[in-house]
Amino acid sequence: MASVHEARTGGGGDAGGRKSRRPRRVLVFPLPFQGHINPMLQLADTLHARGLAVTVLHTHFNALDPARRPEFRFVPVPDGVPAGVAASGDAIDILHAMNAGMEAEESAALRGVLESVLADEEKTPAACIVFDANLLAVPRAAAAVGLKTVVLRTASAACFGCFMAYPMLHQKGYLPPQESKMYMPVKELPPLRVRDLFYSSWSDQEKMRNLLARAMEAVNNSSGLVINTFDALEPAELERIRDELRIPMVLAPGPLHKLSSKNTASSLLDEDCDCIKWLDKQPPKSVLYVSFGSLASLDPNEFLEVAWGLATSGHPFLWVVRPDSVRGLDGPGFPNGFEAAVEGRGKVIRWAPQQEVLAHRAVGGFWTHNGWNSTLESISEGVPMICRPQFADQMMNTRYVEKTWGVGFELEGELERGKIEKAIRKLMEEREGAEMRERAMELKMKVADCLKPGGSSEIAIDKLVRHILSL
Ligand code: UDP
Repeated sequence: MASVHEARTGGGGDAGGRKSRRPRRVLVFPLPFQGHINPMLQLADTLHARGLAVTVLHTHFNALDPARRPEFRFVPVPDGVPAGVAASGDAIDILHAMNAGMEAEESAALRGVLESVLADEEKTPAACIVFDANLLAVPRAAAAVGLKTVVLRTASAACFGCFMAYPMLHQKGYLPPQESKMYMPVKELPPLRVRDLFYSSWSDQEKMRNLLARAMEAVNNSSGLVINTFDALEPAELERIRDELRIPMVLAPGPLHKLSSKNTASSLLDEDCDCIKWLDKQPPKSVLYVSFGSLASLDPNEFLEVAWGLATSGHPFLWVVRPDSVRGLDGPGFPNGFEAAVEGRGKVIRWAPQQEVLAHRAVGGFWTHNGWNSTLESISEGVPMICRPQFADQMMNTRYVEKTWGVGFELEGELERGKIEKAIRKLMEEREGAEMRERAMELKMKVADCLKPGGSSEIAIDKLVRHILSL
């Protein structure tokens, strides 16, 4: 295992070839959304546990709280996101504004920050910056100050494979998707169909293609790519990436949340930990956990249907309803009679300690939007899923859950209480659901295998640490 001692002595020598005795530092720069912050800080924890010092760069938008991670140094980066755009909550607009702001020649803010971090930390020199692939300003700023880059992809290997195939998907007419061909298989990327591809109908397509092309270029110009997945989960997808990419190191050390012991410390919202006491009182595998992640939302009518579907299902449930969960409303309004109908059986909270919830013996199913972190977290605990994807990579994650791993099924079409009730019964009571649970338990064992000493996670982290020390 590449360890504290190696990290402190350093693999990199000075110009005369002598080994440096100084500890080494890694800079990490997450995209400031929950689903991206979590895996980046989990990776940072893992590197820190191997003896590397860590400096976290973070934007003003969704700024992180340094007090929660005293072991890291935090450095704010001006992001240039106008207040109106930040308040809109539109992730794509925020991302564009952030990249434009950080790249603006006249501000050169990021480069300035990197220069001052490097000057400041001479005693613990930085080996590289590990950054989120969507932060397009990083490669140029890092090159300007002579800093090597490693890219972290927080989505699946399949999703990255889809990005690599983006030009082909347009050339062959799969994209933009046509209504009549939504269920057509994409034979180059099995098991995906056109409707599963990463595509945003409401974004400017030229901008989108440009963003993906530049994210790909950033990977190709980096010294390594880390994907939050594991070999046994996506073997063919990882093989294709390793074959096609020009870079020497493609690592899959996931699931990263299983390598870190401090997962709750990166939450942007306060977690309601009392829900664990409530779960303690529920029978084993009886509770449906319902959460659509940090960004997805419902329209007011869908929200009502979900509320009544949960109420009439008769199952205990734990439902995460963020303050911005319902589109167009300041706060969620529960229907009259809902509280009485679910008393003693249903619990609604603003934000959950999700990994702890999924690991709880009382949880028997997860109704999820299939963000990649949620999908991995569910798989890691052997919890089968009802899938309700909305955008980005969520549809392709659902497709893998249903078709490749057989650990859940999609709740398709309009949300309607009767359909919801049926789906809940299928997952929680019927034979099909039990079979999905069995397969989920098998995947959980595969996760346990990859986390063992000498397993794929440890091997990948070892390689990464050695790589960092060699820079
Ligand atoms: N999460 C959480 N509490 C909640 C809901 C979500 O801690 O009540 C965490 C979850 O464990 C995951 C992240 O937020 O790590 C959401 O990431 P994901 O990729 O699933 O979805 P996104 O929010 O990016 O759509």
